Amino acid sequence: MDPKRSHPGAAGGRDGSPVPEPKRQGSSTAAVHAGEPRQKLGNALTTPIVQTATYTFANTQELRDHFEHRIEREEYGRYGNPTQRTAEEKLAALEGAEDCLLFASGMAAMTTTLFAMLSRGAHVVVTDDSYRRTRQFLNQVLHRYGVEVSTVPAGDFDAIEDAIRPTTRILLSESPTNPYNCVLDLERFGELGRRHRVKTIIDATFATPYNQRPLEYGVDLVFHSATKFLGGHNDLLAGAVLGSTELIDGVRAMQGITGAVVDPFAAYLLIRGLKTFALRIERQNASAQAIAEFLAAHPKVVRVHYPGLPTHPNHEVARRQMRGFGGVVSFEVHGDLATASRLVDACRIPQIAPSLGGVESLIEQPALMSFYELTTEERLQIGIKDNLIRYSVGIEDAPDLIADLAAALEKI
Ligand SMILES: *Cc1c(COP(=O)(O)O)cnc(C)c1O
Repeated sequence: MDPKRSHPGAAGGRDGSPVPEPKRQGSSTAAVHAGEPRQKLGNALTTPIVQTATYTFANTQELRDHFEHRIEREEYGRYGNPTQRTAEEKLAALEGAEDCLLFASGMAAMTTTLFAMLSRGAHVVVTDDSYRRTRQFLNQVLHRYGVEVSTVPAGDFDAIEDAIRPTTRILLSESPTNPYNCVLDLERFGELGRRHRVKTIIDATFATPYNQRPLEYGVDLVFHSATKFLGGHNDLLAGAVLGSTELIDGVRAMQGITGAVVDPFAAYLLIRGLKTFALRIERQNASAQAIAEFLAAHPKVVRVHYPGLPTHPNHEVARRQMRGFGGVVSFEVHGDLATASRLVDACRIPQIAPSLGGVESLIEQPALMSFYELTTEERLQIGIKDNLIRYSVGIEDAPDLIADLAAALEKI
C-alpha cells in the first residue's frame, strides 16, 4: 500500500502487544465521531442544530474580548455557526486537512474561493471536462473583471505547463473529471504548482476523501460539492473547501463578505449523512465496478469510462492514488441521442435527474441534462457526445441495478 495513504490497515494487538497508535482514525470512525465533542449541549448524543442568526454578548467587555481575540466565540451567523463548525471539523478529519470551510452550495464554495484568490490581471489554468458552471464562472464572470483563463485538456501535463504565465495564480482541475472520469496524477499536479509557485486546486467531488486525498499529494486546496457523495441523500446543498489554515482563513474572510454560508440545518443534514459515509462509498465503489464491468462486456455499449477498468487510460494512476474508483460510471451506447434517451427512459430503478452521489441511483444524458441548448456540433467541440450516459450508482443492490440495465439495453 502506498505509504502516503494513511488509511488504517491491519489492527495489531491480538497477542497482547501494545496496539500501535494509528496515524489517523479510519474513515468510518472519523465519519461517525470526528469534530463532535463527547458531551454536547443538553447531553444530547447528536449534534444540536443551533438555529440562530446572531449571538449575544453578556456585556461590552465580552465584546471587547472577542474583537481583541482574547476569547473564542461566535459573533454573527454569516461568520459561523457551531453546527457548521462540527461538520467542518468532521470533513477536515476525513480529508486530512488543517481546516475546512462550508458553503451554501458547491458553486458558492468555488466562486468565493476564486474571488478570494484572484485579482485583476491574474491568470488561471483550468482543465476541460470540468463542471460547466465552474468554467462559466471563470470564462464569463471573472473574465469581465480582468481575469484571464486558459483551458487545457484534462491530464495533459505538457499543455498545463505550457499554459502557465508569470501572472498565473491557480491551476484548477477535477479528478476524476465529469463526465469522463479522467484521473489526474495528483503528485505531478502538486509538484507543477510548487515549481511555478502557483496554487493548485482539485475538485474532488467525484472521488470523496474515502477514495482519494489530494492534500497528501501536495495539492493546495481540495474542493467538494457536498451536495453529492458527502451529504449522500440527495436532500441538501452544500460545498466545502479544505486546505491549510492560512489559505482557508483567506477564503473565510471573503465568505464573510460574499455571504455564501451554509444553513445550520443543512450542516446538520450533512453531519447526519456523513455518519454512513464510509459504508455508502464502499457499496457505491463496489456496485459501480460491477456495473462498469457488465457494461464493458455488453454488445450494445461502445465504451465505458470508469477508472476501475483496466482499459481506462488512467487506470494505473487511479490504482496508485485511489482507494476505490468512485460511484459514477459514464458510458456510450451504439446509436445516437435518441438511442441513449431510449435507454435512459427504459431504466426502472435509477431516476432521471442531474446530480450524483446519493443513495438513490440517478441516470442522465449529459448532452441533454447539462448542455441542452447547444447543438450536437457545439457539444462535440467540448467533448460531450450525444450517445453518452452518466450513471450515478446509489446503494441499491448491484444485481438489481444490473438486471435493470440489462432489461433496458434489450429495449434499444
Ligand atoms: C455538482 C458539482 C459542482 C457544483 O456543486 P453544487 O453543490 O451543485 O453547487 C461542482 N463540481 C462538481 C464536480 C460537481 O459535480
